[in-house]
Amino acid sequence: DDPILEIDDANVTYNDGETYVLNDASVSIDRREILGIVGESGSGKSMFASALLDAVPDPGVLSGQIRYHRNDGSTVDVLELSDEELRQFRWEEVSMVFQGAMSSFNPTMKIRTHFTETLKTHDRSVSEGIDFARGLLENLYLEPDRVLDSYPHELSGGMQQRALIALSMVLNPEVLVMDEPTAALDLLMQRSILQLLDDLQSMYDLTIVFITHDLPLVASLADRMAIIYAFQFAEIGPRDSIIGDSAHPYTRKLLNATPNIDAPLVEMQPIDGEGPAPVNVPSGCRFHPRCSLATEKCRAEDPQLDVFDEFDTDHRAACHHWQEAREEIPLNAGKAS
Ligand code: SF4
Ligand code: MG
Repeated sequence: DDPILEIDDANVTYNDGETYVLNDASVSIDRREILGIVGESGSGKSMFASALLDAVPDPGVLSGQIRYHRNDGSTVDVLELSDEELRQFRWEEVSMVFQGAMSSFNPTMKIRTHFTETLKTHDRSVSEGIDFARGLLENLYLEPDRVLDSYPHELSGGMQQRALIALSMVLNPEVLVMDEPTAALDLLMQRSILQLLDDLQSMYDLTIVFITHDLPLVASLADRMAIIYAFQFAEIGPRDSIIGDSAHPYTRKLLNATPNIDAPLVEMQPIDGEGPAPVNVPSGCRFHPRCSLATEKCRAEDPQLDVFDEFDTDHRAACHHWQEAREEIPLNAGKAS
């Protein structure tokens, strides 16, 4: 294993530590992997993305440890960085692509200006940086000059999102954190951007953390997947283990809420009920009010996210009754492909 980011017991709290919007997140992200993070809206998945860059919105308080391992073998304690170091870190090491390119671009500035401003702010050569940007844009199947000389609104949604990906990569970061980067786009454009991300990952040796509510979408791309429920990880493991042999009732119900993992023709249907609000997290296993397998133990004891199967040690799940889950919540046919 060659971790690039190690997150240990990351918590984000509000109200003097009373309210958790990210709870005990621990995960190691391997260099050059594509890690998919899946959760419903309001589950804490965006908070996890922000935590990776120590960019939690006020007045949230982030605690825990986030270590970043550079290619040269040195280690950075992200939560100890100064503001200036953090500013560099966020573009040069771990870069973030947000949902909705339109809100990330300044509508009064040409795309080129976004690139040159970013380069100047980081004391980089503009001519070299623009050359690098041209290559990125070409690799994203965009005409560099046409895009650079356009205002954001002159580009289609898919072109904007690709231009935003190029901008986020202009300082050649090692890690891209993408929070619902394709949510505003139609299905075909989403699929083609995912294919491009797969290509970019190998061309630029990227590590990608792809955060989404859309399990089938990310399953087509990810090496590993983590399922987040009510501000905690419920399950994490290799893509095929999660898709074909998940151990958490929530994951199994998410899988069954979509007709076919490789052809997500309909929107994911929600599971009965909703995830809890941060101020209203249930006792014990926080999924218990929605779980058909819940017992007294589930209501009383919070299950730990742990290896549950000695033959599948890369796979962790937080469920007291994972064996019953596999037996009693069969996966719909055609899923496990
Ligand atoms: Fe359901 Fe209990 Fe497992 Fe929670 S611990 S997911 S309530 S079976
Ligand atoms: Mg690189």
